[in-house]
Amino acid sequence: MKIMLLNLITLLIILTSCHKNSTSSVSTEIPAVYKKVYGATDMYIDGNYIVIKSNGRPDHKSPYYKSTQWESALYEAYNGNNSSFMQNPNLIATASLTFRLPLKPVKAASVQATPLGPIGVSLNGVPFYNQYAANYQPLTMELNTLDQYNGHPQQMGGYHYHIEPTYLTAKYGKHVLLGFLLDGFPVYGPLENNTTLTNDMLDACHGHTHATTDYPDGIYHYHVTADAPYINGTGFYGTPGTVAQ
Ligand SMILES: [Zn+2]
Ligand SMILES: [Zn+2]
Repeated sequence: MKIMLLNLITLLIILTSCHKNSTSSVSTEIPAVYKKVYGATDMYIDGNYIVIKSNGRPDHKSPYYKSTQWESALYEAYNGNNSSFMQNPNLIATASLTFRLPLKPVKAASVQATPLGPIGVSLNGVPFYNQYAANYQPLTMELNTLDQYNGHPQQMGGYHYHIEPTYLTAKYGKHVLLGFLLDGFPVYGPLENNTTLTNDMLDACHGHTHATTDYPDGIYHYHVTADAPYINGTGFYGTPGTVAQ
């Protein structure tokens, strides 16, 4: 009985000290909203930034997994509904992406255009790209190379989404948070209050400000729409962080 009591006291001491540890590290605790990025391979706070790392590979199937080491588990022939689908010659490869997003996104003094390449990160760790192909040409031809989940790899094998990531919206809903752009502002799906949003309902950057489930106090956010520019318009609403690849 005495031993049991001693054990109990020891347990209580351990529990109390664990609790103390967790409260003292509050400043580096990752806000829950970022944990939605389930595809992150690492995530931590560095000063005023949340750092999110990803290998960029989709967790869903794709015809672009053919002839890769992941073929047996993740290859799936094109089965989407674009009769003009034309597979590009690239194969999915592992990327090494490090996103540094402002923890407290702020409106920029002037809108900065998005770069070619990754402009943000989606829930499964696949990067968002903007509405342009190489040399800032419209995506016209490239759209026919998007697989059944609306993504495709570039020449280095880096898989990405220019338009609605339908694997995520089918799985989690068309109204939910889908990821973040480099300025730290969140990206939501095309549906809001049971209304499918169109470009004319959004500002030039392709967003607007109001409260969301994840940000009850209100926040600027982008919305994905069916038509160009799809995710972002003229550029970042906020001051962008960085991405290394
Ligand atoms: Zn592309
Ligand atoms: Zn909204």
